[in-house]
Amino acid sequence: MHIGVPKETASGEQRVALVPAAVSSFVKMGLDVVIERGAGLEARIPDQAYEEAGARLGDPASVFEASDLVLKVQKPSADEVGRLKSGSALVSLLHPATNRALLEQLGQRGVTAFAMELVPRTTKAQSMDVLSSQATVAGYQAVLLGASHLSRLLPMLTTAAGTIPPGKAFVIGAGVAGLQAIATARRLGAVVSAFDVRPVVKEQVQSLGARFVEVEAVAAEAAGGYAKELDAEQQDRANRAIAEHIRDMDLVITTAQIPGRPSPKIITEEMVASMRPGSVIVDVAAEGGGNCTLTRPGETVSVHGVTILGPLNLASMVSHHASQMYSKNIQTFIEYVVKDGVLTVDLDDPIIGPMCVTHDGQVRIGEGS
Ligand code: NAD
Repeated sequence: MHIGVPKETASGEQRVALVPAAVSSFVKMGLDVVIERGAGLEARIPDQAYEEAGARLGDPASVFEASDLVLKVQKPSADEVGRLKSGSALVSLLHPATNRALLEQLGQRGVTAFAMELVPRTTKAQSMDVLSSQATVAGYQAVLLGASHLSRLLPMLTTAAGTIPPGKAFVIGAGVAGLQAIATARRLGAVVSAFDVRPVVKEQVQSLGARFVEVEAVAAEAAGGYAKELDAEQQDRANRAIAEHIRDMDLVITTAQIPGRPSPKIITEEMVASMRPGSVIVDVAAEGGGNCTLTRPGETVSVHGVTILGPLNLASMVSHHASQMYSKNIQTFIEYVVKDGVLTVDLDDPIIGPMCVTHDGQVRIGEGS
């Protein structure tokens, strides 16, 4: 079986789907791996490292047209879909809920596609979970980005030039990205607090040395450990508590998401106006519209003296390690789905079934699911 890894073409994407360590494992399995020349350069992985791991280097044509299995980070462009061999397989992030037309095209080309964001969040599939690995990187990077936009120091310093009190960081949404943001802000010396609508995360927040901002009778946990929307009364109580707390914060990191829904709007203009000039908000939920009503996805704006960042693709900014983690996730999936050198599509399998979005010319998920 031939595996192809193209250079990512989406704007700003610096990650690569496979790193040399995974190439070595695939070669040991008897698989042939072709890497597009320069595919790893933006993740600081030279072509030579792939060759030493046993890969062949190729041009885009050989990567797409001669491969039985193509591995990508970002969804393929229309041009890339047209190059995929009929009967081949694709493993990539595909944003299937909002890309029905892409899935139809893949189906029409007879491509079996697996969406990495649909890895079930179960213990067995944990090592394939790209949402977790990339959110971990995003949570870390969000804090560094926010700290670099502050005109203040985060750690407490006692120096001959005087004493600097520690900065205050507030993390809204304590899922995978939020917990990593808490840990990173703590390592930088900030005094950290956090809020989440799932009370179950209180202990996790506290175990990282942060304070959990309690809001009476606010709890919104759905099946699978995810959040659901708050009802109007709970929302009102949460808003009042956040408004009270946020005005004293130097750095706010928001990561709140509800699966299948736009990012909840949590930080209002009034709250921003109450913050000290020079404070910074990093809206990690910008890709889904943002948690702050003033966020402009992909931009940095200054409103009422507060800098609001809406970064897209934070994980790509830490391209080397984000690629390493993505590659390990994808490698574990390939080792699971390839048996004796053959891709085995068992749609009844609890991991393969939910991830397979096109097979035998059919799109396998419903609109908006
Ligand atoms: P996510 O990205 O969907 O959401 C981020 C956080 O935002 C969540 O903690 C959510 O509760 C919170 N949130 C939503 N609305 C909010 C609001 N209005 N105000 C404040 N916070 C709000 O979640 P995620 O980080 O991908 O994961 C959430 C949970 O999923 C985990 O904590 C865990 O329980 C589960 N999970 C399980 C596995 C596994 O078993 N393999 C892997 C990853 C995650």
